[in-house]
Order: sequence, then C-alpha cells, then structure tokens
Amino acid sequence: MTRIVLVEDDPTISEPLTRALGREGYDVEWHGTGLGGVNASDDADLLILDLGLPDIDGVEVARRVRDKGLTVPILMLTARADEVDLVVGLDAGADDYVTKPFRLAELLARVRALLRRRSGADDGGEIEVAAVRIDVAGHRAFLDGRELQLSGKEFDLLHLLVANAGSVVSRDVLMREVWGADAGAPSKTLDMHVSWLRRKLGDDAAHPRYITTVRGMGFRFENEQ
Ligand code: CA
Repeated sequence: MTRIVLVEDDPTISEPLTRALGREGYDVEWHGTGLGGVNASDDADLLILDLGLPDIDGVEVARRVRDKGLTVPILMLTARADEVDLVVGLDAGADDYVTKPFRLAELLARVRALLRRRSGADDGGEIEVAAVRIDVAGHRAFLDGRELQLSGKEFDLLHLLVANAGSVVSRDVLMREVWGADAGAPSKTLDMHVSWLRRKLGDDAAHPRYITTVRGMGFRFENEQ
C-alpha cells in the first residue's frame, strides 16, 4: 500500500485531505508538527508538507528529510503565492507545490504524478546522452561532469526529455508528466522552465545544441551535438 505522510497543522485542511487520500486508496499518516513529519518520513512514499507549521517550518522539514538521505517526493502546501519563491528558490528539496486554497482534484493529480515518477525512479539507473548525464535515483543531473543546480521541475523536465532523446516530447505529455496538468492546460510555465533549463545548459534558443523547439508540437533533446 502506498504510504503518504501528511504534515499539516490546520484540521480544516488535514481532515478532508486525509479522507480524500484514503478514498483514493492511500494509507495516510497525519502529523500536526514538523518534527512529527521528519520522524515519520523514513518509509513514506510521498510527503505532503505544509509550509507554516507550529514548530519547524516546511522548508526545514524538507531539509532534514533530505539530510537523512531520503529521496521521497515532497509536495509542499503554501498559503501565499509569494511563499512559492521560498519553496522553489531555496532548493529546499520540495518536488512540487500547491498554493492554498487548492482544488482537491488538482492536488490529487499532483500526488499521482509524483508517485508515478517515484516508481519510474526505482530502477536507480543512469541515463547519459551527449554531455548530459542523469542520475535518476539520486535526482541529480550533470553537464560535462559538473552537477547542474536544478529545481525539482527543471530536473523532471530534463529527465523526461533526455529519456526520450532524439524524439519529440509533446507539450501535453510534458505538462501532464511534469505538472500533473490536464491536456490543454495553460503551458506558459513549460516555456519558462525550458528557457531556464537552456540557460543552465548554456544553450541558445536560436541555435540550440541540446533542446530544440519543435513548433506546434513540443521539444526534442538532441542525441548528437
Ligand atoms: Ca499551517
């Protein structure tokens, strides 16, 4: 059974969320404090983490979980849009975030996407294409042997493109696999992430070495440079 640890101090959120996740067939363990969440994280398949907690905040919980060497996916709940920068920018170890108030269907889609990626990562393999190497289990990416500092989304995007190197990956597939979004959802965020990823790869959108835009379709990671 898939075990989800929910760390949320607000019962008006944790109670319906626990019920909804239970209905989806997940085994949910709820904690109202950050330290409780850290202690419960060892054999969790997914962590849902509120940012504002009564003891240590969600960013600190994520850090301590990563310090234990755990690669469990972390979905962060943020109360305000401006906290998103904190969660994403600090490279705190969160894989995704949802801003409150969230739609239950959206949160469940994110949960499914994270768990799907988790099961895909269990082979612990490495993918190497041209100068880029992806350490799937370690959630790390390297360019010419130098580790790239990627956010969770940038990593997922690069992973998906490199795993399909030489083929076009459609915008819909990228949106669904990386963001858990329905086909046809606004995908401006995808273009932003591709642009950040190119910058980190030292790529040039006009003359790309690595990530080619295939107009009207999606993106292709190039096999040969
Ligand atoms: Ca809270």
